[in-house]
Amino acid sequence: MIIGESMEIYEKAPAKINLGLDILYKRPDQYHELKMVMASIDLADHLKFETLPTDEIIVETNKAFLPVDKRNNVYQAAELLKQRYHIKKGIKISIEKNIPVAAGLGGGSSDCAAALRGLNRLWQLDLSLGELVDLGMQVGTDVPYCLYGTTSAVFGKGEIVQPIESMPQCWVVLVKPKISVSTRKIFQLVDVAQLFHPDIDELIAAIQAKDYLQMQKHMGNSLEQVTIDKYPIVAKVKDKMLQFGADVALMSGSGPTVFALCQKYSRAQRIYNALKGFCEEVYLVRTLP
Ligand code: ATP
Repeated sequence: MIIGESMEIYEKAPAKINLGLDILYKRPDQYHELKMVMASIDLADHLKFETLPTDEIIVETNKAFLPVDKRNNVYQAAELLKQRYHIKKGIKISIEKNIPVAAGLGGGSSDCAAALRGLNRLWQLDLSLGELVDLGMQVGTDVPYCLYGTTSAVFGKGEIVQPIESMPQCWVVLVKPKISVSTRKIFQLVDVAQLFHPDIDELIAAIQAKDYLQMQKHMGNSLEQVTIDKYPIVAKVKDKMLQFGADVALMSGSGPTVFALCQKYSRAQRIYNALKGFCEEVYLVRTLP
């Protein structure tokens, strides 16, 4: 939309869930080698981009506790593009945050991916997906997946993304217990020899075959027990979801959000209602195709 001299555009930044997360080993650079399956859901932040007459970056958000300076992933994305491509224009980006923060749902990474997509469009940079992925990786390891945004196998630190068939579509109930979990701290607690290792190849095969039952059977997260040992509430939420009829329930990322999948809406609604009385932050959404 063009308003006088200025222009505004919008981008949606969906949350991701981990259908599978395996930690293979600790690399010499101290990062963990990962093998994951991610999918996106219809719970999203909304970003508005407005050109500014002055050469500056302004980030705003509806969550007062979030930083809006260089610590914000969206600010970093804008600064990276401005510096790399010598952009002498100003930009204001307003983030309407709906995805819980530090929750294992990749909210900050998805915002960054949306900022790269939006600015690529607004500034007519004509960057390819591969070029955006290289830039995004400099801001966060989940950004490459968020740039693809469709069900994918993800390897390395997160930089290798291979889209696969969309996961079977279903309802997703998400519960974010009232604790913040630092991804970095959870990874520090990891002892690879002690971990549970889900079979990610079988999970990928089940999704390719659109076999919902096999998919459920092979879903798993190496970090789940690590987070549960520190925050037992995660296990309680998971148990309640299963007790109220979830097809499957799993922690996403490093937590603390737990999600339940249901093919029947009535089941999803029952879990939603039951968990609403137990936790403040409960969402009922669809998977994205
Ligand atoms: P992941 O699943 O990738 O580990 P997460 O859900 O655990 O992500 P985020 O919501 O991305 O975590 O937030 C992690 C940290 O990033 C927070 O402490 C927050 O201050 C910081 N941050 C920077 N920019 C943003 C943003 N745009 N939205 C949310 N958090 C942001």
